[in-house]
Amino acid sequence: MDFELAEEHRIFRDSLRKFLQAEIRPLDDRWGDEEMTPERARELQKMLLPWGYLGEQRSDDPFINCIMTEELARVFPSLAGIVGMTAAAGWAITRRAHPEVVRRLGPPLLAGDLIGANAISEPNVGSDPSAIQCRAQLDGDHYVINGTKCWISNGHIADVAVVVAQTQPSLGQAGVRQFVVDRRESPFKSRDIPTIGLKAFPTSELYFEDVAVPAINRLDGWGESERAAPDPSKSFVQVLQLIARARVGTALISVGIAQRAFEVALQYVKVRKQFGKEIGRFQLVQEMVAEMATDIEAARLLCCRAMQLSRKRRCDAEVSMAKAYATEMGVRVCSKAVQCMGAHGLAMENRVERCLRDARMLTVPDGTTQIQQLIIGRALIGMSAIR
Ligand SMILES: Cc1cc2nc3c(=O)[nH]c(=O)nc-3n(C[C@H](O)[C@H](O)[C@H](O)COP(=O)(O)OP(=O)(O)OC[C@H]3O[C@@H](n4cnc5c(N)ncnc54)[C@H](O)[C@@H]3O)c2cc1C
Repeated sequence: MDFELAEEHRIFRDSLRKFLQAEIRPLDDRWGDEEMTPERARELQKMLLPWGYLGEQRSDDPFINCIMTEELARVFPSLAGIVGMTAAAGWAITRRAHPEVVRRLGPPLLAGDLIGANAISEPNVGSDPSAIQCRAQLDGDHYVINGTKCWISNGHIADVAVVVAQTQPSLGQAGVRQFVVDRRESPFKSRDIPTIGLKAFPTSELYFEDVAVPAINRLDGWGESERAAPDPSKSFVQVLQLIARARVGTALISVGIAQRAFEVALQYVKVRKQFGKEIGRFQLVQEMVAEMATDIEAARLLCCRAMQLSRKRRCDAEVSMAKAYATEMGVRVCSKAVQCMGAHGLAMENRVERCLRDARMLTVPDGTTQIQQLIIGRALIGMSAIR
């Protein structure tokens, strides 16, 4: 076990940071706190392509992946969310869709020309995804989808959505399937739901009213090794895997946001003077700085561990520890950063209040903190609190 970054990781991080600082951070200052448009999102996704955020050049190295997400979130957290959702949709489609669908949608998704979304949650379906009410009914060579999805990241700007729907309510979980909905051939309506933070990362409501989707767009039956032999029994498990895969990414976005807030506060306490000296000389301010730095480091280590272990084996508890700890840490650290800066920390012209609002968004998606705790508890005790 080596806690130092390898030379190659350090070089990668330093050059990525330089690029993000010069090219992406100014765009966050301009657009990071306003509603995103699809054109702008595509343009931003494409700027990140050379660094492997999408596409074939995406690295398998867990530390490179941790560095990429944290560093992007440090300069433009909403963009880290947008590109993460497109990457997740691209991942699911290129591995599990029908070859014809992969041929059509894989390359443009991986090239950043399309924006992806994953639609599971509904007005009555939050922490319990098994209760899906959105309906998909087979009608000849296509499915007809009816229902409402909500809080869908990227939803309002998405070109392609992986939509979870119930095909046979009498079967319960076994009737749940995923569908690739290409908005250009199967149009659906949507609206952005304004939230407290991550203003440029849409959370949206999607409306499906008799939306016809070709039957080959059913995602869950076409595994890589079994394209000729669909196995629908895996479908609901794959939905849960999709949610679990997102957890470490969300945790790392929190680490990036907290790191940014910390850096701003650290700089401030070194120069702000009260009682005739820099406030950074006061022990109670030093306590806040020490707590922030330790909290960020602990979350970063949990994320790296979860990212590395999840490449080797199933590790639900470690992933949930990283998600729960890092997202709650983000709120704690950003709040302390505001406190270190006094009234300046609360002013919207400074960046730190936005960090606090952005961090507050992340304790809820991909399973709330309470749901992560139930997963950790189940792994440790061997008993499930729910079913
Ligand atoms: C920024 C953001 C992005 C999102 N992106 C997506 C997306 O891309 N796709 C998508 O499908 N969804 C998305 N969601 C929705 C998200 O997955 C849900 O909000 C989340 O699963 C929680 O559901 P809920 O909000 O309905 O809360 P509820 O499930 O109603 O929970 C409300 C409260 O009850 C608690 N609670 C619920 N059940 C239990 C229990 N068994 N034990 C203890 N406490 C419990 C929760 O912890 C919470 O505090 C997103 C949400 C946010 C905030």
